[in-house]
Amino acid sequence: MNENIVKRNALLAQKVIKGLQSRNMAGYYAENKEDALQLALSLIPEGSTVTMGGGMSVHEIGLPAALKAGNRNFIDRDEWEDKRAAALMAYDADVFLASCNAITEDGELVNIDGNANRVSAIAFGPKKLVFIVGMNKVCSDVDGAIKRARNVAATTNAQRFGLSTPCSKTGACMNCKSPDTICCQFLITRFSRQPGRIHVILVNDSLGF
Ligand code: SF4
Repeated sequence: MNENIVKRNALLAQKVIKGLQSRNMAGYYAENKEDALQLALSLIPEGSTVTMGGGMSVHEIGLPAALKAGNRNFIDRDEWEDKRAAALMAYDADVFLASCNAITEDGELVNIDGNANRVSAIAFGPKKLVFIVGMNKVCSDVDGAIKRARNVAATTNAQRFGLSTPCSKTGACMNCKSPDTICCQFLITRFSRQPGRIHVILVNDSLGF
């Protein structure tokens, strides 16, 4: 990575972390994926029950594989036939892993969901949330974050899942009401009433989309 981008990421991350702290959330900065993995593991006590709701970034730092190899009870929904049962278990988990579709410089998290299992668990349920967020997802404000969530994250996911949506064909959000749309629920996490519940690890890398 270009050294000027590294410097910029380190400075910008401190601004985001201050924003998160002002919203009763904890922020951390990892200089690379390996540091992010070790930081995430330090936030997940041994013996805890851990679930997740998708999240390419979580996989990209190798967290699910490390949890399976360690002494945590990691519930891998991909291994469950009954996806609804797996999703419902998330609400009573000790730790829920996620990324976000975008985060503002002032620490607001923006997520879009089709089935809503991910955004509902972020809003309520799991005792602790650990977000893995590449610096590519930092946006200046909520408007910019929603635009990113629609035009980058949702559009790419629609293509990834082979959905029949306008964005799958054009590469841009057309604000559709297609039966296949994955933009059903928008969640802006602007404050946590429970101190110690939400932890955001910003990573000096481009993770997810
Ligand atoms: S609203 Fe429709 S067109 Fe826009 S990103 Fe979502 S699925 Fe794609």
